Amino acid sequence: MKIYISGLYCGGNPQPGVGIARSLREGYPEATLIGVEYSNRVSGIHWQGLDDLWIQRPWNELDLESYAGKVRRVLDEGGLWISGSDLEAMWLASLFPGGHAGLLAPPPDALKRIAKPAVPAHAGLPVRIPTYVATDLPDWDLHAFCRANDWRVWLKGPYYDAARTPTWDSFVAARNALTKVWSTERLFLQAHVSGYEESVMLCAYRGELLGCVSMRKRDITPEGKTWAGDVSPVDPAFEAPLRRIVRELNWTGGGELEMVRDPGGQLWLLEVNPRFPAWVHGATIGGYNLPALLVQGASGARAVKAEARAAEFTRVVLEVPVRDDYPLPPLPEPFAGAVGHSMKHPSGLTSLAQRLHKSNPELLEIVGEPAGPAAGGKPAVPDTFIADIAAYDLETVQTPRFLYLESTASGLFKRAAERSRRLGTDEVQVVSGYSIKTNPDERLIRLALENGFYAECISLLEAQKALQIGFRPDQVILNGPAKWWPEGLMPKERLHAVFCDSVADLDRCVAMAAGDLASRHVGIRLRTPNVVSRFGIPLDSPQTFSKLVEAVGRLPDEAAFGVHFHMASSNIGVAQWWHLFESMLKWCRSIERLTGRTIEILDMGGGWFPDDWHAEDESRFSRAVETVKALLPAVRQIVSEPGKAMAQPSMALAMRILEIQEHEEDHVEAVVDGSIAELPMYAFQPHRILRQCGETGALQPLGRGKTHLMGRLCMEHDIVASNVALPEGTRAGDVLIFCDAGGYDRSMSYVFGRG
Ligand SMILES: *Cc1c(COP(=O)(O)O)cnc(C)c1O
Repeated sequence: MKIYISGLYCGGNPQPGVGIARSLREGYPEATLIGVEYSNRVSGIHWQGLDDLWIQRPWNELDLESYAGKVRRVLDEGGLWISGSDLEAMWLASLFPGGHAGLLAPPPDALKRIAKPAVPAHAGLPVRIPTYVATDLPDWDLHAFCRANDWRVWLKGPYYDAARTPTWDSFVAARNALTKVWSTERLFLQAHVSGYEESVMLCAYRGELLGCVSMRKRDITPEGKTWAGDVSPVDPAFEAPLRRIVRELNWTGGGELEMVRDPGGQLWLLEVNPRFPAWVHGATIGGYNLPALLVQGASGARAVKAEARAAEFTRVVLEVPVRDDYPLPPLPEPFAGAVGHSMKHPSGLTSLAQRLHKSNPELLEIVGEPAGPAAGGKPAVPDTFIADIAAYDLETVQTPRFLYLESTASGLFKRAAERSRRLGTDEVQVVSGYSIKTNPDERLIRLALENGFYAECISLLEAQKALQIGFRPDQVILNGPAKWWPEGLMPKERLHAVFCDSVADLDRCVAMAAGDLASRHVGIRLRTPNVVSRFGIPLDSPQTFSKLVEAVGRLPDEAAFGVHFHMASSNIGVAQWWHLFESMLKWCRSIERLTGRTIEILDMGGGWFPDDWHAEDESRFSRAVETVKALLPAVRQIVSEPGKAMAQPSMALAMRILEIQEHEEDHVEAVVDGSIAELPMYAFQPHRILRQCGETGALQPLGRGKTHLMGRLCMEHDIVASNVALPEGTRAGDVLIFCDAGGYDRSMSYVFGRG
């Protein structure tokens, strides 16, 4: 009996070949085991348990047609083939669409039904699929997906490779890398599921399930791969539907279902692999020799019965002699800039992917996700943006230039004020304070005043500006660690609220309250527990908490007491923010009990992304008001401090295309006269981009494509947008408008490269 085994890679993210060979040696001591590889750098070729080797050129050099002939010959001569590599299994499936008696790998239709991320074949199993979106959605929507999932997301390639992207810039960088490697725009973003990882391994021949086993990871490598695990029988409630699915798919070969069990016990299916997992021999140690069962099913020859030696297994590192006929090659050059394992793999897997993709473009498509709602990746741009921008004569504007979107801005403030009124009740008022630092443009501050906002200031300069524009001192809220700067600008009249950022700040306030500081509320800012912050008074150890309680005891009785916290939900995600909110309310209750002071003003800060803040559905906000009432009955006013939620949509940045450079394979680089000096938020958020049509003057949103917009600065990282498409007919001189630039883009823009 001759058995060909591929996938011998034994690095940190190993393939199963060596484990398969070890298990087969136990099941069939007399069989001839032949290791198949596509690189002499793969250390598994030196495993002594292999009787022979069949080393091919790497995939990027291999003549696939003649190799296919050779594979067919060994199978026709009665050899068996167990593939240890997903892509090789796919290639083999395409060679033998109707299967081959000796090929122990799944047929093409089965592979289609296990494609990521939807895994259509999972129906009937007690598992769920974590939510995902295909990355051909507009960046605007991808950013929303990340916020909604607390930035706990994975960017995944169609077959291998996954990168956690906890920030927008890491997402953009990983997308650029994976798009290049897989030569496809169709990657997907998937929500992370917290829990413990477990797998089910199976083997089947022509639709008959021959064996299966459960494994829980008990120790992992830094890449999250199994280092140790325990094995046990598969739950009958899982095995029954699995048996049916294997029959429906007419599965042949090994397979693995990778899952996460969340704290509630729910299983989430991450992927199904068309091969045995690398830990296959761990199960053999536990008495489940699935490779031997597979060969027995295919050949009819009885395998030596597996004996359980332990229910748990672990890995060790072994040194083995190098075979004389494959001496070690020189040390490879370190591979720079790799995102995932496949790029480091020495056999050139990604070029096999490209060749498979070229021969069958459907192969690497994301299954289960129809083209995004906005086909072509074009974002939805609000009508008011278009109307406001159309009011400018873009022909004559000097670029780059910020455009104030008047009706958009006034609409935002008006709607926010109306919602506050709706949410408030007789006992508890709901109000907003406009964060002046986010964009101190007079027009925005005036809108805040006209719509009943307070002025939220982090310095006395900001407070003075608010007063000049018409705010009364009792409409001013002072916040932050440097709110008394600069000296001498303190208003004489009573302020609305002052929140102390530290115990030292609190003691300064106490001293000032004896003199010239007057404020209706004097409160404290709490440092968020479990979410790193440099602001506020910490409360996460008994010592710091008792200091806080003592300090509150020193606050003057004349002023009402209050609590403030601020943590950007745009960074930590919306769900996590609400979780933080609830936990803050519980801390507030403890503070009330321990200090004997009741909280009359609760200020929950800003940091909201505009779309989250202006969400149509108000139920989460009204529930929050109810919770505050229930937990902190003395609260009379709930304040929020939106900055970018108001300012960001209120301005756009107009720029002109200076030059269009066309490169190979439709890649375009367009140089613009704008730059990251005017869009410093480019690393944190996407911008919806419009192009004014040179002929009709119409404003067209830019969709997804292969164009990168290069800023005018002589700086490597000055790329203002990636993976966009310029509409037909775009020429140098055309105007592009970057929307969503009225927040920190405007206020933190700097003068650079202008002589
Ligand atoms: C900056 C700031 C805000 C506003 O934050 P945005 O992210 O612009 O909404 C609100 N409150 C405080 C205390 C701030 O420092």
